[in-house]
Amino acid sequence: MVELKNVSVTYQTTGIQALNNISLKVNDGEFAFVVGSSGAGKSTLIKLLLKEIDATSGVVTVNGYNLTNLKRRRVPEFRRTIGVVFQDFRLIETMTVYENIAFVLRVIDAPRKYIRKRVPYVISLVGLQDKASSYPRELSGGEQQRVALARALVNDPALIIADEPTGNIDPELSYEMVELLQGINECGTTVLMVTHAHELVRHFGGRIININSGSIIFDEVVGGNYEA
Ligand code: ADP
Repeated sequence: MVELKNVSVTYQTTGIQALNNISLKVNDGEFAFVVGSSGAGKSTLIKLLLKEIDATSGVVTVNGYNLTNLKRRRVPEFRRTIGVVFQDFRLIETMTVYENIAFVLRVIDAPRKYIRKRVPYVISLVGLQDKASSYPRELSGGEQQRVALARALVNDPALIIADEPTGNIDPELSYEMVELLQGINECGTTVLMVTHAHELVRHFGGRIININSGSIIFDEVVGGNYEA
């Protein structure tokens, strides 16, 4: 569960108020799109939810952790409740698909037996069974994105945050990503997908949270325009 109560973020260096008195609640098991143009405050919101930055005022609660008074030594434990798919995927080029995903579990000292079971399972969830031994450079953009998603999922997080790739990436990728995330959401994981692609959101529909200049200007469930 994600809850923000009257949250503002002001960057001290520039004095810019990136988020302006935001209140928001996303329940367990929900799927929500966060949309807004460049500079709206989307990245600031993600950083806040990961406790990479702190709110200047207000209360942020994520997966039962009150981030305002969360002790520094408990931050890693908190972060393990969230899986993040970064815009730029952040795969390790010298590791295969399997190793990229297994690495997440190795660093937290998961039992080897569990790793051997869990990694092939998440690889199959994203449909990359045939690519487990490939290196990132041998994969298409879509496949790399699916590795990034498998890596975000491997720890069985309560919440997935997906930051949609921007730039010259094939728009088809975003559709594929939403379909994968919807499947994962149906198994009970809460999903927040951050995007600037309004046509994508119109296509799928669902809960849409629109941020503009640091404020929520729209937060409603809308119907999509596609036939499932
Ligand atoms: P978005 O992700 O929607 O493009 P951001 O959250 O990155 O928007 O930015 C919101 C506002 O905060 C913008 O005006 C941006 O210039 C400013 N901003 C973002 N990061 C920083 C930072 N580290 N220091 C100062 N200002 C920042």
